[in-house]
Amino acid sequence: MEATNATNAGNAPTGGAPDHRMFIAGKWTDAADGARITSINPATEQPLGCVPDAHPDDLDQAVAAAVDAAPGWAAAGWQQRASLLREFCARITERAAELAELDTRDSGNPITGMRYDLASTPPEILYYAGIGSEAKGFTAPTGPETLAYTTRQPYGVVARIIPFNHPFKFAAGKIAAPLAAGNCVLLKPAEQTPLSAIELARLAEDLFPPGVLSVLTGTGPRIGAAIASHPGVPRVAFTGSVPTGRAVLAAGAPHIKHVTLELGGKNPIIVFPDVDPAKAARAAITAMNLARSNGQSCGSASRVFVHDDIRGPFLEALVRGVQELRVGDPLDDSTEIGPLAFERHYQRVLSYIAAGRDEGATLLTGGDRPSTLDRGYFIRPAVFADVTDQMTIAREEIFGPVISVLGWRDVDNVVRRANAVEYGLTANVWTRDISVAHRLVQRLDAGYVYVNGTGRRPTGTAFGGWKQSGIGKENSLEELLSYTREKSVAVTL
Ligand code: NAD
Repeated sequence: MEATNATNAGNAPTGGAPDHRMFIAGKWTDAADGARITSINPATEQPLGCVPDAHPDDLDQAVAAAVDAAPGWAAAGWQQRASLLREFCARITERAAELAELDTRDSGNPITGMRYDLASTPPEILYYAGIGSEAKGFTAPTGPETLAYTTRQPYGVVARIIPFNHPFKFAAGKIAAPLAAGNCVLLKPAEQTPLSAIELARLAEDLFPPGVLSVLTGTGPRIGAAIASHPGVPRVAFTGSVPTGRAVLAAGAPHIKHVTLELGGKNPIIVFPDVDPAKAARAAITAMNLARSNGQSCGSASRVFVHDDIRGPFLEALVRGVQELRVGDPLDDSTEIGPLAFERHYQRVLSYIAAGRDEGATLLTGGDRPSTLDRGYFIRPAVFADVTDQMTIAREEIFGPVISVLGWRDVDNVVRRANAVEYGLTANVWTRDISVAHRLVQRLDAGYVYVNGTGRRPTGTAFGGWKQSGIGKENSLEELLSYTREKSVAVTL
């Protein structure tokens, strides 16, 4: 099986990295066949920890325990579940500093970004703890002889499969809604960054009844695929790439599973000539999520359409701003850009940079390893100018620190070009003309549009992609409801 940041190796040397077990059915366990994977610190390229590569038999156990626990968890009621989720948050906050450091070592994301992840996770969980009572039904108007109403019930067993870019934040934040709605959850972290999910299980082990939460570590093609196709998991919520999302959807099809997908993006920013170019350039840097996850973000605004009239000063400010970002040891508080999360991904991003050059774009800065760092998967953030819509770097999600700048003159034309990719996750508009902005919002094919903003989303505003960026909505009441099934009842009186 393929090595990633994690080397999959039944009996491979672990380089002395600590061994961990996974948490299934209320117990700490190894994989049924003993297989393990090693997580590598991408800044040092040294082994950091070993975790089980869960076997499909382990999944059977986790599903059986979840099925057993489901009626009791559903019957506990939303207030009891909310109070346990609040205690879970308190435990996260207590260990936030340590968990942020672990995520930095495992993922390469800068420590300041991971502290932000840890600080912003409990409020997300508390949001779902607070709205548990909204998973409710209604009564329908009828004649005097009938009472008609609806009610919502949990699925019982929900799987959460997550990617590597915000390890703890996604692990903890994305189990909150299904748990609050009364489901048992099977969490599968990314094989490249599994360590903080193990710690999450430690925080929760004596909190939730056995079987309510299981954490299955391991590789996507083995345990991820097994979860996606398991007949005992009727509801799968997946966050990751478009190709894997397709595979998850297809694996669920024979069982007509309820699958939701939070997938990739190739998100545009459209900068109008009435804005301050320096301010817009700063916003473009923030919108790439460079300083929080090294540009490895689904919401990274990697296609920057800048009006020709301000192209010169915009590019100058962008290049200066990007060059000022400090690349280095992600555990250092002053670092803004750490390494990419694992070697295969590092090589992939470098190959996109090579493609940009080969296809005729102009590399204005970055795109290579800093001369001061001789190990680790570091890339100085790259800015490409003279990018055209047909180039690979303008069409495909790179998921790394690579910004493509394109020009425009005509509004209709730039809207058409912004919409001309298979993705539709987010879009950004920068203009001082509020009417122009709102007209554009209506025309952009994206599930979330930021106007003169930089990616911060108020709690409760649903996030989820259009087109091939996904199915379903998260971070909102819609997400909570998506973990319930509606039942209509007609009573003849
Ligand atoms: P990925 O698709 O390679 O992996 C995601 C998860 O799926 C991992 O846990 C992996 O082990 C698992 N997996 C792999 N193969 C599987 C299979 N056949 N069946 C079931 N599970 C399988 O994605 P990645 O490289 O970890 O993450 C990067 C991608 O995630 C990017 O495309 C990014 O845009 C996307 N993403 C989207 C959002 C969002 O909210 N829309 C958020 C973060 C990341």
